[in-house]
Amino acid sequence: MEKLFKISIGLLLLVASLATHAALRVVTSTQDVAAIAAAVGGARVQVESLTPGTRDPHFAAAKPSMIHKVSRADLLLVIGADMEIGWLPPLLQAARNARVQPGSPGYLDLSTAVSLLGKVDGPVSRAMGDVHAKGNPHYWLDPRNGLRMAQAIATRMGELDPAHEGDYQQRLKAFGQTMEAKLPAWRAALEPLRDKPVIAYHKSFVYLADAFGFRIVDEVEPKPGIAPSAASLSALITRIRNDGIGLLIMEPYYERRSAIYLHEQTGIRVAVLPQSVGAQPDINSYFDLFDAIVKALNNPGGP
Ligand SMILES: [Zn+2]
Repeated sequence: MEKLFKISIGLLLLVASLATHAALRVVTSTQDVAAIAAAVGGARVQVESLTPGTRDPHFAAAKPSMIHKVSRADLLLVIGADMEIGWLPPLLQAARNARVQPGSPGYLDLSTAVSLLGKVDGPVSRAMGDVHAKGNPHYWLDPRNGLRMAQAIATRMGELDPAHEGDYQQRLKAFGQTMEAKLPAWRAALEPLRDKPVIAYHKSFVYLADAFGFRIVDEVEPKPGIAPSAASLSALITRIRNDGIGLLIMEPYYERRSAIYLHEQTGIRVAVLPQSVGAQPDINSYFDLFDAIVKALNNPGGP
C-alpha cells in the first residue's frame, strides 16, 4: 500500500512536471529499445540511448555523459533480465534521479513484457560461465517480442503523459501494422533455413531461431562469455562434420579467428549478423534490423 502510494505520488509529480516540459525525456539502455521508443513516442518524446548498437550490450563503461542523461530522464527503459547488471546500477546511483529508480513509474524493465527463454532452475555458479539466471536477455531478436516491448512502452508513456495517450496508442497501432506486413515476408525469405542446424557464437540468437524456425545446436563459446579453447574448437569441428552443420552465426563484435578457423577446417558458412539497431549505419529502425538480419542470413558473407 505504502509502495503504491509512493508510486502514485511519483506519477502525480511527474505528470505535473511534464505539463511544463515540451516532451517526455526517454533514456534507454540500448539502441534497439531507443528505436522502438522513438517509433511509439513520435514527436512527443525525446529518446537517447546509453549504449551504441555497435557494442556488446553486456558491457559498458559508465561515462559522465551517461550519468547526465539518466539524471534528466523522465522514463528509463531497460532490457532487464540482468543484461545491464554489470553497468547500470552504479549509473543509476550516481544519477540520483528518483523518477527513474527501479519501482518508480519512470523505470520500465521490458523483460517483464515478454516470456524469457532459457531460465535456469537451481543455483547459478561462476563455473557455468556468464549465465543469466533470470532467462536469456537477448529477446529483442524475436520481432514478436519487439511488438510486446512496443505495447509496454506505449502503455507506460500514456500513463506518464496522459494528455497524449491516444497518440501513443495510435503510433503503436501503426508499429503493429508494419510488423504484420513485414513478418510474413521475413519468414518466407528464411524458409530455406527451417529446421536446419546452426551454430551460434554466443547464446544470443535463441529468440531469432525460435521466431524463424531454425535450430541452434551449439555455440562457439563453450560457456556463455567464455572464449573457445583449442580443445573446444576441435570438438566443434567434429560436430560440424558429423551433423552436417552448414551455418555459423555471430555478432560483429566477437573475435573472428575462431570462425575463420572453423570455416577453413569444415567449409561452414559464416553469417555475421547485426544484433542491434545501429550495428550498421543503415540500420536505423527496428524493422531495418530484421531486414538486415534476413539479408545477412541469406547471403553469408563469411568471417
Ligand atoms: Zn548474453
